[in-house]
Amino acid sequence: MKESTYIWKNGKLIPWNEATTHILSHTLHYGNAVFEGTRAYMTKKGLAIFRLEEHTQRLLNSAKILMIKCPYTKDELKQAHIDLLKANIDNYKTNVYIRPIIYLGYGAMGVYHLNSPVETAIASWEWGAYLGDEAIEKGIRVKISSFVRNNIKSTMGKAKAAANYLNSQMAKHEAITSGFEEALLLDDNGFVAEGSGECFFIVRDGVLITPPYDNTLESITQKTTLEIARDMGIPIEQRRITRDEVYIADEAFFTGTAAEITPICEVDFRVIGEGKRGKITKQLQDEFFKIVMGEHSKYTHYLTYIS
Ligand code: PMP
Repeated sequence: MKESTYIWKNGKLIPWNEATTHILSHTLHYGNAVFEGTRAYMTKKGLAIFRLEEHTQRLLNSAKILMIKCPYTKDELKQAHIDLLKANIDNYKTNVYIRPIIYLGYGAMGVYHLNSPVETAIASWEWGAYLGDEAIEKGIRVKISSFVRNNIKSTMGKAKAAANYLNSQMAKHEAITSGFEEALLLDDNGFVAEGSGECFFIVRDGVLITPPYDNTLESITQKTTLEIARDMGIPIEQRRITRDEVYIADEAFFTGTAAEITPICEVDFRVIGEGKRGKITKQLQDEFFKIVMGEHSKYTHYLTYIS
């Protein structure tokens, strides 16, 4: 990975290599941490964070769900993102990924977590297309996972929690090792839930379809994509999708802060549509990239410029 100069930790900017943690940090053993994945785009007017407000709110929501008491307010966290990017600005020529994390540090062992100190950190670094530059244009090959998405009776998918990603990690590993680029996970009733780190959409007969939020993270890119589609007059259905419906979709794509809008050309050896980026996918992608790059006047309020 590309290193930057500073990391923000507990209210201070510290050198990248000094942002370490003790081996007996509670989170390292028991998996309770909440984090975000946020992007800043290098626009014509400089670096701008996309939907900082929504990402910071979701970070605090995740902490609330998991009983982690964040010592910082939303405004303080937002300012910390800005301070960090300003301090690191000389490192950046292109788009940046931002990773705030609230975790439990060193001081108490055992499963009970409220005696551990809460640590807050934010890192940022230059990061291009998550699934590769080619993927944005050509699409990726996807495998429906043998792993069922975390069950809502046991885990809490509305929290972007470190522990939830063990399920994602195993699904991703299985997909890559089997020769695919990404996994698509079904819920415990067999309906499509989400990707290992993305939300999922299909297009059938001109209608954009995405699963309800039951088993998924409340995705910010999914929300943006639905807003764009509404603006463009594309009919939307938010409903359950079965595996066989995916196979016969005209188009399919993933959305996520890291994945942006990534077309899917094949699922389980079935070619989707014409096996390349579909027409509606391209239209949504074009609008999306205009928005994040500050080139769409209706959506400039989603950008926080670092100047
Ligand atoms: N689902 C999961 C499991 C994810 O990790 C992500 C990435 N944060 C998403 C969906 C997409 O969410 P967002 O668009 O807010 O990045």
